[in-house]
Amino acid sequence: MNRAAKKWGLRYGASRFVAGETIREAISKVKELNAQGLACTLDHLGEFVRSREEAIESADYCIKTLNAIHQAGVDSNLSLKLTQLGLDIDATMCHENMCRILECAKQYSNFVRIDMEDYSHCQQTLTMLHELRKEYDNVGTVIQAYLYRSESDIKALQNVPLRLVKGAYKESPKVAYPAKRDVDNNYKRIIKQHLVSGSYTAVATHDEHIIDYTKRLVSKYDIPHTRFEFQMLYGIRTQLQLSLAQEGYKMRVYVPYGNDWYAYFMRRLAERPANVAFVLKSMVIK
Ligand code: FAD
Repeated sequence: MNRAAKKWGLRYGASRFVAGETIREAISKVKELNAQGLACTLDHLGEFVRSREEAIESADYCIKTLNAIHQAGVDSNLSLKLTQLGLDIDATMCHENMCRILECAKQYSNFVRIDMEDYSHCQQTLTMLHELRKEYDNVGTVIQAYLYRSESDIKALQNVPLRLVKGAYKESPKVAYPAKRDVDNNYKRIIKQHLVSGSYTAVATHDEHIIDYTKRLVSKYDIPHTRFEFQMLYGIRTQLQLSLAQEGYKMRVYVPYGNDWYAYFMRRLAERPANVAFVLKSMVIK
C-alpha cells in the first residue's frame, strides 16, 4: 500500500501532515517551528517491520535523528514505535535497539517517547517501558483514554512522563469505550489523575474543550507551566498551536518524516473526513 500510495502521488496531500522524506527537510521544518516558539518531537515514520535487518536499520535511523537534532541545536526530542524496532519479530532485539537509542539520547540529555500502538501491543509496550525505566529515566510512553485500562495503567506509572491521548486505532468495545463522549470524559479523568499526582504530563489533543479543561485544572491546582505541555500534530490546528505558545504554555509539535508515511497519513484521514476532500483537491490542483 505504501508503494502504491507513492506511485499514485498521494504524497502531495501527505505533505500537509509529513514534514519531508529526509532528515534535512525535517530539521529545516523543526527550525521554522522553533523560531515560532514551538518545541518539537521528531518521528522517523515506520511501523511493523518484517525483518531483523529492517528493525536494526530503523533503530539506526532513530540514532541518526538524535545526532541531527544535536548537531543542528534544535529543540526537539524523539518519538518512535516499538514495532518499528522489531517488537513483533524478537522482543529481546527490540529491547537492545531501544537501549542503543536511549544511550545516544542520554549522551545528549534528550528524551525518547514510545508511541502507543494498537491494543495488541499495549501490554508488551508497558512491560518494555518498565524494563527500560530500570536503567533509563529519559524514556516515557503514551496512554490512550479510549482504553478501559488507562486509569489503572496510569496508577502504575506515577512519576513517568506520559503523553495522554484519546487513541487513534480501531479497537473492540471489549477493550475500549465505543462512544466519543465516554472517551472524552475518561480523557479528562486521566489528565487530572496524572497532573495532580505531580507527574510530568503532555496533553496531546486538538480538542479545544480538553485544552480549556486542562488550563482550568492547572490554574485551580496551581500546577506550574514547567510540569506539563500541550502537544499537537504537524499541520493540524496550526493557529491554535501558535496561540497556546504565545499565551506562555509549552507547546510541542509532533513532526513525522521519512518515506514510510502511508499508515500515518491514513490515520490522519480517518480521524477527519474533511481531510480527504483536502487531499483530493491538492491532487487535482498541482
Ligand atoms: P478529536 O475529538 O478527534 O478532534 C478535536 C478537533 O481537532 C476536531 O474537531 C478537529 O477540529 C481537530 N482535528 C482532530 N484530528 C484532526 C485531523 N486529523 N485533521 C484535522 N483536524 C483534526 N494516538 C495513539 O493511539 N497513540 C499515540 O502514540 C499517539 N500520539 C499522538 C501524539 C500527538 C502529539 C497527538 C496530537 C496525537 C497523538 N495520537 C496518538 C492521536 C490521538 O490519539 C487522536 O487520534 C488524535 O489526536 C485526534 O484526537 P483529538 O484529541 O485531537 O480530538
